[in-house]
Amino acid sequence: MLQRSDNFETDATDVDERERMHNVRPSDWRNPQPAQRYDLVVVGAGTAGLVAARTAAALDAKVALIERALLGGTCLNIGCVPSKALIRTSRLYAEMRDARQYGASFPNDIRVDFPALMQRVRGIRARISRADSAHALVAAGVDVFFGEAHFIDDDALTVDGATLRFKKAMIATGARPDMPAIPGLAAAGYLTNENAFDITQLPRRLLVIGGGPLGCEMAQAFCRFGVKTTIVQHWPLFLPREERDAAQLLSDAFARDGIEIRLDTNVEQVRVDGAEKIVDIVRDDYRNTITVDAILTGTGRVPNVDGLNLEAAGVAYDRDRGVHVDDFLRTGNPRIYAAGDVCLEHKFNDTAEASARIVVQNALFRHRRRLSALTIPWCTYTDPEIAHVGLYVRQARERRISVKTFTIPMHDVDRAIADDEEMGFVKIHVKERTDQILGSTIVARHAGEMISEITLAMVAGIGLRRLAGVIHPYPTQADAIRKAADACDRTFLSAKS
Ligand SMILES: Cc1cc2nc3c(=O)[nH]c(=O)nc-3n(C[C@H](O)[C@H](O)[C@H](O)COP(=O)(O)OP(=O)(O)OC[C@H]3O[C@@H](n4cnc5c(N)ncnc54)[C@H](O)[C@@H]3O)c2cc1C
Repeated sequence: MLQRSDNFETDATDVDERERMHNVRPSDWRNPQPAQRYDLVVVGAGTAGLVAARTAAALDAKVALIERALLGGTCLNIGCVPSKALIRTSRLYAEMRDARQYGASFPNDIRVDFPALMQRVRGIRARISRADSAHALVAAGVDVFFGEAHFIDDDALTVDGATLRFKKAMIATGARPDMPAIPGLAAAGYLTNENAFDITQLPRRLLVIGGGPLGCEMAQAFCRFGVKTTIVQHWPLFLPREERDAAQLLSDAFARDGIEIRLDTNVEQVRVDGAEKIVDIVRDDYRNTITVDAILTGTGRVPNVDGLNLEAAGVAYDRDRGVHVDDFLRTGNPRIYAAGDVCLEHKFNDTAEASARIVVQNALFRHRRRLSALTIPWCTYTDPEIAHVGLYVRQARERRISVKTFTIPMHDVDRAIADDEEMGFVKIHVKERTDQILGSTIVARHAGEMISEITLAMVAGIGLRRLAGVIHPYPTQADAIRKAADACDRTFLSAKS
């Protein structure tokens, strides 16, 4: 049974959903009496807002946190947490499907228990929501306000009829799914990350529009649940930002899973015929029609800047880039900063968190920490995962830096062979004639875990040769990093001889 509580649709009979709502939007919540002036007012209680509010309160600042929907924002409620929980179960189904490869056998008719797997997703979300709960924030010294924030001046805003004055403010209102301008799509109805985790039945046939991280992760997960999945991507390869060989491997993995791949293809229009959605797609001049039961879009995210009345606060913004900030995350108003998806090019949870920490230090302590000083890794959680940190080769070339690359294919790594997870590689770029690490791309089952070693080396200024002397437990897939480091070391030794 779905009930609307404070305008948020939730299953009131589900114990996990009740717990999550109790944590992230308590139904009996009363906003506090505002303080005379806050040291820091934070607008938006997603990852960036929560981190800033907690950190500032721990440093004895008087802090208010405003949220119009659910504490935890995108990551907890409709992003990283539910998607990764779903992906984990999809991997299990893929492993059961491939059981013979591992010398095991399963009945041929493995049934996907969709209600049970969604129950697991809800349970995980409820458990993680405890850390983001309104009551925990109050206990940490944060004044929590539910309602929509509107700036009324360069040092004041309103929420739920109350006026909050501030010495400093941080805008952390995040981003929402972009709606592609495809004739007929809105009328036909479609899924985004905002409603995909609430479906109660698997569609038989699914079209995913968009081959970025979200589209790729969801297409593979649904395909592995037995949904006949087609993915349409406007560009010639998935994940256009990643190196071509990494994106090509992902295409190969999708083909192996049985995903119908349509690259270089656009969706022209959507029509409805009874319960079916008829989708016209075009590649060059070749037109085709696909019939599906559901459409999921993953065509990008747009910053939430509407309704904040940023003009009154003297904060510049536009609808594509969001709030304009400098390298110190200051907006045009010296009292107001921004962090997270609302202002950053890299829309990741870790970046939202790191940018919020920079704001607290710069706003409250007059530090001058720069966004550009961060080393930001990221990962797309497909199978294999694709993780990256630092420069791509093309970026190094644009900066006229000569690059030498050391590549270890995963099929040369004993643990990957033992695990039957040989698809992928570790690639590390160094500045030519040095061992200074410029960047790395890892394609491997656990690339997201492995990239941290390279990130640490880059942040600490550790050259690749030194990693050759770091003993990695045998056998691990991360040993591929040591092998790349060995290869780098050998080039120096042979240059000397
Ligand atoms: C499906 C999906 C999977 C993802 N997976 C990953 C992943 O695996 N790893 C990763 O690093 N990143 C991932 N991301 C990205 C990550 O979720 C975001 O980068 C991160 O949540 C951004 O945090 P934020 O605080 O900037 O914004 P949000 O978390 O979006 O928070 C913004 C908050 O501001 C509130 N708000 C907006 N306007 C107002 C207003 N006027 N007044 C008051 N409140 C307001 C919103 O309700 C929201 O709660 C994923 C995203 C999606 C969609």
